Amino acid sequence: MKHYDLFIGGAAAKPQSGVWFDSINPYTGEVWAKIAKADSNDVSAAVASAKAAFEGWAGTHPSQRGRLLYKLADIIEANAERLAEIEVRSNGKLYAEMLGQLRYLPQWYRYFGGLADKIEGAVLPTDKANIFNFTRYEPLGVVALITAWNSPLLLLSFKLAAALAAGNTAVIKPSEFTSASALEFAELCVQAGFPKGVVNVVTGLGAETGQILCRHPDVAKISFTGSDATGAKIAEQAGKDLKRVSLELGGKSPNIVFEDADQEAAVMGAISGIFAASGQTCIAGSRLLLQSTIHDKFMARLLEVARAAKVGDPMNPDTNVGPVATEPQYKKVLGYLDIAKKEGAKCVLGGGPYTGPGAKGNLFVEPTIFTGVNNKMRIAQEEVFGPVLAVIPFKDEAEALAIANDIPFGLAAGVWTKDVGRMIRMSEKLRAGTVWVNTYRAISYMSPFGGYKRSGMGRENGQDEIYEYLQTKSVWIATETAAVNPFVMR
Ligand code: NAD
Repeated sequence: MKHYDLFIGGAAAKPQSGVWFDSINPYTGEVWAKIAKADSNDVSAAVASAKAAFEGWAGTHPSQRGRLLYKLADIIEANAERLAEIEVRSNGKLYAEMLGQLRYLPQWYRYFGGLADKIEGAVLPTDKANIFNFTRYEPLGVVALITAWNSPLLLLSFKLAAALAAGNTAVIKPSEFTSASALEFAELCVQAGFPKGVVNVVTGLGAETGQILCRHPDVAKISFTGSDATGAKIAEQAGKDLKRVSLELGGKSPNIVFEDADQEAAVMGAISGIFAASGQTCIAGSRLLLQSTIHDKFMARLLEVARAAKVGDPMNPDTNVGPVATEPQYKKVLGYLDIAKKEGAKCVLGGGPYTGPGAKGNLFVEPTIFTGVNNKMRIAQEEVFGPVLAVIPFKDEAEALAIANDIPFGLAAGVWTKDVGRMIRMSEKLRAGTVWVNTYRAISYMSPFGGYKRSGMGRENGQDEIYEYLQTKSVWIATETAAVNPFVMR
């Protein structure tokens, strides 16, 4: 049994509470690690360590910050298999998926490492005589990075690479369900040579450790990935405390298939939108909007492919669908299956717990498809975060758009069509932070990602993100000094 301590000031630190909690392998149901529970003293120690490191890190030459981020990227690459296995043990997602993420992760550190010494202010023309005015971008200070359990190190890297490149120091609070990988990751930061205190990790429950961290007066910004319910609470408190906040929240994304689309590609896109990662992705294409003219034929092929999906051990390379990650999540998913049935949606695949070949532990849900869904139903409006697809028919482009946008969320949308004009019209009118056309689930460190509406605020990835971790200073220098009337504005 592995015991994980906290990570504060560049080293493992025992929790002052003396309490450790269980990390459970969702596939086997067994406790595989004990994780330290940080109390307010531990959080204060982590924030103090990050605060003490801030001046030095912010003052480190940006090229040197970049070099360390590059070095970290190489170390992550060398540890990808090991870290991917830890992720699978914690959240039960497919090893193939987690290894793909881990092998991709170094790119975030290289991209933002490269950007670190290209953060440029500007010399601005002004209307004032004899004034030289320029802007500087400066880091914020200590940032709190709080993440969800579904892709722990990927979600962390979406934040950490930019935050560090910009010159901030960090206190990370990973999900209580998947804490181990962040603690292992922090050790790699030491190997890379980051100064003590630049990266710290506190582990514990959200409503305890997470909340204490968010409220700490020395935390300048909270960058959060998780549910809209928690995001709203954090934003409310951050408003009272006047802290900056950025939020990456849930979704209920429409995947829209028109009659002129490449049908086989769209079927695969629909499957990848909902059954990959057992539907536990914020960008799940959990509402499949099908043009009525192709509905029955499309469904026949979709069901054929979905039925062939292999459920089982996430470490097995042949497995397509693994368990749900946590017991609360499992119960939530089953609850939505009941809700959908009561609402009158027609269950055409699955619809309950999976106990067939490959199942182990108690957290498998059958890949499930409901047809005849009306967009007003809860199964169409609320995020399930499991392998559950709601299929909604539509007549034409206008109706597809109306249904797609009639939702509180706006994280992503998929469009399948060969009509170039429609691609452009749809991408303009869909109210979502990401629109994919004839593809789905494409993400890159180079392209901004984030939500409209209740899916969040702020952007991660791409050059946009660096400004989430910077503040602008405007500097005014008089080129000729003169004694002027002090009682009027210059
Ligand atoms: P969650 O909101 O329950 O928890 C997220 C994190 O917040 C965890 O680390 C948790 O410990 C912490 N937390 C909980 N309450 C807190 C509080 N009061 N103060 C501070 N921290 C607190 O979400 P989850 O179940 O871990 O993750 C699933 C959700 O995350 C889904 O809604 C999913 O769509 C969303 N998600 C969004 C993105 C994105 O980039 N938009 C990516 C992945 C997941």
